This record gives sequence, structure tokens and C-alpha cells, in this order.
Amino acid sequence: MPRILPVPLGAANAYIVSEGSASILIDAGFPRQGKKFFTALSKQGMDPSRIALVVITHVHYDHVGNLREIRDACRCPVAVPAGEADWLRRGAVVFPAGAHPVGRALIAAGRLLARVLPGFVRFDPVEADILVDGELSLDPFGMAGRIVMTPGHTAGSLSVLLDDGNAFVGDLAFNVLPCGGGPIMPPFADDPAALKQSWAALRRLGVRTVWPGHGRPFSARRLRSQA
Ligand SMILES: [Zn+2]
Repeated sequence: MPRILPVPLGAANAYIVSEGSASILIDAGFPRQGKKFFTALSKQGMDPSRIALVVITHVHYDHVGNLREIRDACRCPVAVPAGEADWLRRGAVVFPAGAHPVGRALIAAGRLLARVLPGFVRFDPVEADILVDGELSLDPFGMAGRIVMTPGHTAGSLSVLLDDGNAFVGDLAFNVLPCGGGPIMPPFADDPAALKQSWAALRRLGVRTVWPGHGRPFSARRLRSQA
């Protein structure tokens, strides 16, 4: 059974998934959290070189903030959505659309913050190694699972599905309210209808537990009840 280690980096989760001697990392958190990441790794007695692959669910600054530092330490390939590799190459800070009025207000505030305090959102550019635009097996990286495209939050967003039913979905769903029973619709989505189709696709693929980019894991049943 794979072991899952959530690593909160700022207000976003990165996940280290390990199976046998293989590990992969999913997402790379808010900028300037590198020290926290490497501390979490060493607490597990893990050398960065053990990470065989970094998968980026989508290229927003809060998911790639420490990617270059991590990639330089693990010297492993980086997989990103093909359509967003150029954002990563250029270090482009791209904001999604708000999914509702509160989301839109938050995005407007984010854009303003990025103008006034650009250092808050800036991340180091990375040239990705694997450009994903369809299903990709993780077998070559020692992991029983695959990457699938799950558009909606951004057009290119992807998820990592393990064969045991765990799924790492980036911002395809949120779960940030304290009691965990609130809405899972993210406040930001470029295409909310496509996002709900991706929820349905995950259910069809037999996902049991969803590990979001923000907040705590939850049962995939909620993908049905809130669709
Ligand atoms: Zn995002």
C-alpha cells in the first residue's frame, strides 16, 4: 500500500507518495517554503534523491512555488500539463476565473496583491521534462497509478490516481472549512461545467479518497452529492 505524506507549504498541500523504495511528489506549494519542505523530508529520513518524479497538477504560483529548488535537489523529471508548460518556463503568474462572486472578489484582490507585492507570487521558472496531455502510467516511476486529465479549474489541470483509489486532484476540489462538511466547489475555476464533468470522470474511474490542493482529504462520495 502506498504511504501518503501531506506536506503543507503555505496554504497549499504538496503530497509525497511512497511505495517500496519509490516516491513521487505532487505539487510544490506556495513560494518561499523550501526550507519547510526539506525539513519535512528529513524528518521522514528521506533524501531528496529518492523522489523519482514531481507531478504538477496545474501551473498556478501556489502549486509551483518551490519547484525549482526541489527539482534541483531531487534531480528528477517534472511532469506538467502540456498546455501550461510555457507558463512554467516563463514564470508566468496566471490567475483563474472566480467561480462565484466571492471567488471573483478574491481573484481581484490576488491580482492587486501581485501588482503591489510581486514577490508574494513570484516563482522560479522551470523547464518541464514531461508534457502531459493524456493518460500517463506511473509504472516507470515505481508507482501503481496514472495521471489523467481533469480539466475545469484550468483547461490543462491533471490528477494523479493511484490504483488503490486515492486521487490527488490539485484544485479540482477544495476542502478548507473547519468541520470538513462544506462545499467542495473551488472558489476559482476557468470552466465550472468542465470541472463537474471531471468529478464525474473520477467517480467512474473508481476513486475513493480525494486529496485536494487546499484542505483535508475527503470521501469521493461527495463528488456525487455536490455535483
Ligand atoms: Zn489553482
